[in-house]
Amino acid sequence: MDLPAIVLAGKPVLRKPAAPVPPEEIGTKQLKQLIATMVAVMRKAPGVGLAAPQIGVGLQVIVLEDGEELMSRLTPAERAERGRVPFPLKAIINPTLKVLGPPLPGAAGAGRATFFEGCLSVPGYMALVERDLSVEVSGVDEDGKEVRWEATGWPARILQHEVDHLRGTLYVDRMISRSFCSNEEAKLWVGRPIAEVRAALGA
Ligand code: ZN
Repeated sequence: MDLPAIVLAGKPVLRKPAAPVPPEEIGTKQLKQLIATMVAVMRKAPGVGLAAPQIGVGLQVIVLEDGEELMSRLTPAERAERGRVPFPLKAIINPTLKVLGPPLPGAAGAGRATFFEGCLSVPGYMALVERDLSVEVSGVDEDGKEVRWEATGWPARILQHEVDHLRGTLYVDRMISRSFCSNEEAKLWVGRPIAEVRAALGA
């Protein structure tokens, strides 16, 4: 399969809200082909998620998948801290996100987590991004069957990142900007206590 290139930050398609897929297009060969292409692009990158605007298509479609080989650099403790667990391929059309478990009053930071995050459309860099710990996504799959998924930890982070793409939002809009690192430098910081990273970078 001839795969399209991943669209990089600076292309307007990444900054426009994506259009909902019309109901009559769900289940069609064309839409299934789009999803197959997105999955192939994501796996080739490799990445754990991709939104249709990242291949230049302004439609509300995301694909996600995480596996052992992609998290093999992390220690068991780092995986546990991030809530990073493998999950099988999911393709979600017209997703909507709901935050689960709102923070308790007075519990600062409850229900949120801050970790380094990157994006295939902003290659070469990473930054700290605070995300909700638990979310529920609703939408439909490529056959039009209802999808509902409660995700926690890293899968919840991936979902928030991909749904952001459908709103024209990139992680750089949400990042702790002084934590922005080249991948080379980020190797030093990933896995270190967030307070230490923030102190060292004045973030
Ligand atoms: Zn991205």
